[in-house]
Amino acid sequence: MSIATTLSHFHQELAGTNCRLVAVSKTHPVELIREAYEAGQRLFGENRVQELAAKQPELPADIEWHLIGHLQTNKVKYIAPFVHTIQSIDSLKLLLEIERQAARHNRVVNGLLQFHIGQEATKTGLDFAEAETLLETLRQQPLPHVRLTGVMGVATNTDDEAQLRQEFRELRGYFEQLRQRFFADDAGFREISMGMSSDYHLAIEEGSTLIRVGSAIFGSRPYPV
Ligand SMILES: *Cc1c(COP(=O)(O)O)cnc(C)c1O
Repeated sequence: MSIATTLSHFHQELAGTNCRLVAVSKTHPVELIREAYEAGQRLFGENRVQELAAKQPELPADIEWHLIGHLQTNKVKYIAPFVHTIQSIDSLKLLLEIERQAARHNRVVNGLLQFHIGQEATKTGLDFAEAETLLETLRQQPLPHVRLTGVMGVATNTDDEAQLRQEFRELRGYFEQLRQRFFADDAGFREISMGMSSDYHLAIEEGSTLIRVGSAIFGSRPYPV
């Protein structure tokens, strides 16, 4: 199936929902991204800073770029001039560096707090208590160049539907609690980024607002990441 055909299926599926599609283009060449762009897709996700920083200047400026992979503080500077949303915020230290770099460019960068929801020990992210501590700190120390717009999580790589639902519900629960406690007056805190090629149907049913889909759009990746 062509990229355009696949994207039009996604748009039909998402019509009438509150959920948008992040096309995850990691490892794929700019030609394929351009093909998706020409089919109307504007929201793309990459998981590596170097790859994102290399691709961005080759592609139209109105692409909304999301970084979805782990971000080291010393690399924030490479994407601060253009990145729309950093989905992988997992520490205060990282937030402070995003603030610093976004301020240098006179921009506001959106951020999602990444939670550890899956079972794999290697998966990064905050637990709920760490997120509470972080947000308590921000109450005392607002960051004018970072706008927290929601939460993100990567579920366990399994086809156990009950487990996936449970993890998606956990993330949604975190979102609801944080919204009540810290963002009651902020309608901008509204994103729940969850669901990938293999599990996005379930994620949509469980309230996802951003599904991150790579291989179901672009095919299998030419090399592992
Ligand atoms: C690669 C990646 C995806 C997309 O994975 P697919 O299985 O190809 O849809 C989603 N989220 C994150 C964080 C990723 O790194």
